[in-house]
Amino acid sequence: MDNDLRDLYQDLILDHGKHPRNFHALPNANHEALGHNPLCGDKINLYVTVDAQNVIQDVAFQGSGCAISMASASMMTEMLKGKTAEEAARLFAYLHDACTGKSADKAGLDEDAVDRINALSGVRDYPIRVKCATLAWHTLQAALKNDKKVSTE
Ligand code: ZN
Repeated sequence: MDNDLRDLYQDLILDHGKHPRNFHALPNANHEALGHNPLCGDKINLYVTVDAQNVIQDVAFQGSGCAISMASASMMTEMLKGKTAEEAARLFAYLHDACTGKSADKAGLDEDAVDRINALSGVRDYPIRVKCATLAWHTLQAALKNDKKVSTE
């Protein structure tokens, strides 16, 4: 990735960290979970509305934490609307591989979502930050499985 592009992605993360999107409760959510990353103190309450076809209709979050955790949650809520739970699981697998330096398989994934995930994958140089970047996604998996709480520990 060239430096201009990297700067652009860093701006994206800063912007989402400062001005999180979909930052509110979702009264009609049919799944929710509380995610906690004790290493950093990040906490995310995630709300998801999934329809009978397993398509994510709406997703929102509240919480507090470092810029990476908030930006990751904010970007996740933007990329998941209209996706199936299975697509969300594949995006999470991609994020996890990208953040841990594994070669990640992006075949069939939404390109815009992949670009955003690649923006976050700079955390692989800071292993302690990987849990910040993946917390929202762990919380999503817990919510979809109807686990009410998840911790990265
Ligand atoms: Zn954090």
